[in-house]
Amino acid sequence: MELYSTNNPGLRTSLRDAIFQGLPDDNGLFMPVRIPKVSDNYIRHPESYTFQELAFEIARTLIGDEIPEGDLKMIIEQSITFPAPVISLDKQTRVLELFHGPSLAFKDFGARFMAQTMSYFNREETEPLTILVATSGDTGGAVAAGFLNAPGIRVVILYPSGKVSPLQEKQLTTLGHNIHALEVSGTFDDCQHLVKQAFLDQELRQQIRMSSANSINISRLIPQVFYYWEAYKQISTEQQDVIFVVPSGNFGNLTAGLIAQKMGLAVRHFIAATNVNDVVPEYLETGTYTPRPSIRTISNAMDVGAPSNFSRILDLYSSTWNIIKTQISGYGFTDEQTRAAMQTVYQQYQYILDPHGAVGYLAWKKFQQSHPDSGIGIILETAHPTKFLEEVETTLKIRLDLPETLARLKSLKKEATMISTSYTEFKTWLLQHLN
Ligand SMILES: *Cc1c(COP(=O)(O)O)cnc(C)c1O
Repeated sequence: MELYSTNNPGLRTSLRDAIFQGLPDDNGLFMPVRIPKVSDNYIRHPESYTFQELAFEIARTLIGDEIPEGDLKMIIEQSITFPAPVISLDKQTRVLELFHGPSLAFKDFGARFMAQTMSYFNREETEPLTILVATSGDTGGAVAAGFLNAPGIRVVILYPSGKVSPLQEKQLTTLGHNIHALEVSGTFDDCQHLVKQAFLDQELRQQIRMSSANSINISRLIPQVFYYWEAYKQISTEQQDVIFVVPSGNFGNLTAGLIAQKMGLAVRHFIAATNVNDVVPEYLETGTYTPRPSIRTISNAMDVGAPSNFSRILDLYSSTWNIIKTQISGYGFTDEQTRAAMQTVYQQYQYILDPHGAVGYLAWKKFQQSHPDSGIGIILETAHPTKFLEEVETTLKIRLDLPETLARLKSLKKEATMISTSYTEFKTWLLQHLN
């Protein structure tokens, strides 16, 4: 597999290097040089294949011979270990549940595949690899679960003290083994800043092999293509146009959908659903992209004012707004609208949406107003409602049972090291514990 940089189309990098490097030196994003179509049978008869078989074929088509087929099969078998079922709300409205993984959010797909491919490429290295990751909540849990016990790899998670939910904190701090949690007395930005400084510190890098696990890593995007196919498969016999509705923050999820379409999946249209952080819907509407500071909402995993994958979307369409806006519609919604949507869906269908999925539902309804006979909308439900327990319980006036994976966490003991926002303190910890 060859990749280039969105800032330098002439660059050529292997998948291995792109994964370990994370970002090209020119600060662009890695993109595949070729996005080939998968073979015809997988496009026309997806129902003949299991989720893992679809995933393997998509991965094989994209990655080519850089990972031998036997090894790729193992990677798929160890990363696609839970289902992605499509639930029917009504004839035209479906929900794709992406929350059946260990951290109960769709990020498990990306994190597990990334962990498996990194371990694969790392297997002949003698020096251990350290993954540094700053998290505002969801990413850390998925990455921690994905890399747990990965041979030769250890993970250091930095999270802002008191600013992640108690359950999220438990997901980060109770795994032990090769997962270390640092509780930073500061904000998410402070955490991110510490990680950035470490990557820029040549002296540190000479002593510790480091890599990042953030959402722009190309290995997190690849497995997200799989579940679009898996979702399409489940309604393929209905012979209707398919529209994917994607609750979006950094727009990695939507980018993966666009790649699936390029690989041959017959998607009619995409809908980008956001909360009030709506710089992309605004771009689709006006042709002008104006990143700005993010605003806090109840769908907080989408509180992004400068989406990191936006340049990948531009790149896929050679920055041609006229074409992009025919392929993607975008809508943004307030918290008040989001809560009302959660209530409506619960009353009408007895289905519990989390705030992110509810934003997707609103976008689908809005699109339907102007396109009444538009086929089937598949809303990506990106997190389990119990991940946002208080918000869901208050809004719906119900009590939720915690799923087994979360209930178990309550009794586990938190283990984290408290550090300040001082880089010297962080560096000293790294050198003392990882050298
Ligand atoms: C990360 C996340 C999103 C946003 O996904 P992007 O790929 O960044 O657009 C949406 N919902 C949940 C629950 C998330 O954790």
